[in-house]
Amino acid sequence: MSPAAAEIRAAIRTVLASWSGLVSQERGVARPARDIPALSRFLCRHIDWLTRHPAAGDLMDEIRELARRAHHVAYPDNSRRVPIGYCPVPECEGELVARMRSRDDAQPSEIVCSISPHHSWPATSWTRLARQVRRSQGESA
Ligand SMILES: [Zn+2]
Repeated sequence: MSPAAAEIRAAIRTVLASWSGLVSQERGVARPARDIPALSRFLCRHIDWLTRHPAAGDLMDEIRELARRAHHVAYPDNSRRVPIGYCPVPECEGELVARMRSRDDAQPSEIVCSISPHHSWPATSWTRLARQVRRSQGESA
């Protein structure tokens, strides 16, 4: 396991253990074993109670952040970024960046908008996008 993977794994265990500790303390139930599967099962059993807890928002934020970091460790972004120009989608103020990936990358090259994740174009439709960009620039000029 890479140091980054070990680190995020430890962070996940710490956060799950901390929330399990809160559940066991406030509900008066035994703490689960301190390993990720046991902690996850324990928290899932108490999820209805947790979602009504005043700190539910913090739990959500921490889990979301861990998921984001874990995803980044599992799928590092080795793409080269090339700025393209403004997003052609009406009303969008985003800028387009081409993420150029190598052929052996699991993810395809794509052009993405800096504002909306829904504004993205795979390499296969770049000619169509180029026409769209030219049209939108013609309209705004
Ligand atoms: Zn956009």
